[in-house]
Amino acid sequence: MIYLKTEDEIEALRKANQLVAATLAEIAKIVQPGVTTREMDTLAEHFIRDNGAVPSFKGCPNPFGPAFPASICTSVNDTIVHGIPEDKPLKKGDIVSVDCGVLLEGFCGDSCYTFCVGEVKAEIKQLLSVTKESLYKGIEQAIVGNRLGDIGCAVQHHVQQYGYGVVRQYAGHGIGKKMHEDPMVPNYGTAGTGLAISNGLCIAIEPMITEGKASSYLLPDRWSVKTRDGKSAAHYEHTIAIHHGKADILSSFEEVEQIERTKH
Ligand code: MG
Ligand code: MG
Repeated sequence: MIYLKTEDEIEALRKANQLVAATLAEIAKIVQPGVTTREMDTLAEHFIRDNGAVPSFKGCPNPFGPAFPASICTSVNDTIVHGIPEDKPLKKGDIVSVDCGVLLEGFCGDSCYTFCVGEVKAEIKQLLSVTKESLYKGIEQAIVGNRLGDIGCAVQHHVQQYGYGVVRQYAGHGIGKKMHEDPMVPNYGTAGTGLAISNGLCIAIEPMITEGKASSYLLPDRWSVKTRDGKSAAHYEHTIAIHHGKADILSSFEEVEQIERTKH
């Protein structure tokens, strides 16, 4: 069941997603060698609650194991998604994907950004920039007149030029009063196929892209998903609304990128 959103609902989603953007910016300020992902999680949880929202990932049920124990997912290097914050300090050259979700006044925000920890290798920088570009290539296709397959096709086409892998087991999704609504928004597909995109559709687009092969495995914690070949993975996510025929990005990387520019 797909719920198309009204103007008021889109504004409520924007508010929730702007809080996610501000939370990611708070995290950006502390990402550096020596910091732990647990410290990032504590900061995020306090910031989200201080702003009147709830971290929606915390306690997220898992049919195969324990509920998610933290407020953000922190996926380091070869962890693709759903990494659990821990006490191990990050080192120079690591990358960490920070996925953040909030519930604010009944509406969800969801966005993810992959950070560099100090200086990283040129080939990893390229993986990050190409993955981020693929997110925007997908967003460009999210217009009335197109179909969902156009989004996935654009993401896939962009990253495959570099020999990167597209993770297929995990996908973007509809978003609204619930974090995960219909439709599913895969990061691969055939142009011109799938659901017709219409005004009021609100979705999270989130390419998860691997430096090597896309095949993955689940850790015994039943959450963390890693690449089988041990190569790195990147993950960027925006929540968007189709509004007046085109994509309106409700989350934002603006503040995060401003902070990143002062570091690198
Ligand atoms: Mg997310
Ligand atoms: Mg998501």
